[in-house]
Amino acid sequence: MTGETKPRRVLLKLSGEAFGGGKVGIDTHVVRRIAEEIVPAVKQGVQVAIVTGGGNFFRGAELQQAGIDRSRGDYMGMLGTVMNCLALQDFLEQEGQATRVQTAITMGQVAEPYIPLKAIRHLEKGRVVIFGAGAGMPYFSTDTVSIQRSLEIHCDEVLMGKNGVDGVYTADPRKHPEAKRFATLDYNRALVDNLAVMDASALSMARDNKQCIRVFGLEGAGNVTKALLGDNIGTLVSA
Ligand code: UDP
Repeated sequence: MTGETKPRRVLLKLSGEAFGGGKVGIDTHVVRRIAEEIVPAVKQGVQVAIVTGGGNFFRGAELQQAGIDRSRGDYMGMLGTVMNCLALQDFLEQEGQATRVQTAITMGQVAEPYIPLKAIRHLEKGRVVIFGAGAGMPYFSTDTVSIQRSLEIHCDEVLMGKNGVDGVYTADPRKHPEAKRFATLDYNRALVDNLAVMDASALSMARDNKQCIRVFGLEGAGNVTKALLGDNIGTLVSA
């Protein structure tokens, strides 16, 4: 017995909105700041895996409205998530942080394939692992992938970084200033009341497997570091 405590391992979900700053493409200032906030937590021993969204480039459902086959549009969306991975990887590496990108669609020149045991090994060595291309399957979302990856590589928590809001509220605080933020929330209430945590299939996977989720605001200075370190910010969604 060494008496050593198990290191904290988390899965950070960054949506396309976080990468694009609300626009199409990548806002490099925002991505650099997020990278700068990830590094201090890794230095303190937190093992950080990340799933990137891709809505700042394409969403299959929106492309379908414009006449593109849904599955093909979804693949375009998945490829968008990989561009976000590479941008974040670059800023992390510039900070001296070792990284690996693993994608669910094989693209050997730019990333490793998704291999869960290898991802765990990278995390144990202090590398940040960034998962791209979603699940590699149309009709899925990167929210669902965040829960699945977190379960498969045994993360303690899924951290949902949000733009423009710092947790889960009784109603959209941008439209209803009287809305109240939940400090804690159970899965069923979030599902039944359709509260803005993540999409319903992702949330029900979290509920069925008791995966804790913390929803927090990306914008406040230092918030990403705080969430990674386990500070009690935002809203904790659990059983
Ligand atoms: N996507 C998919 N399968 C996946 C993950 C993503 O088909 O496993 C596609 C889907 O079209 C989705 C897009 O990629 O709309 C971008 O992902 P998402 O909408 O989850 O990104 P976010 O909303 O987080 O920016």
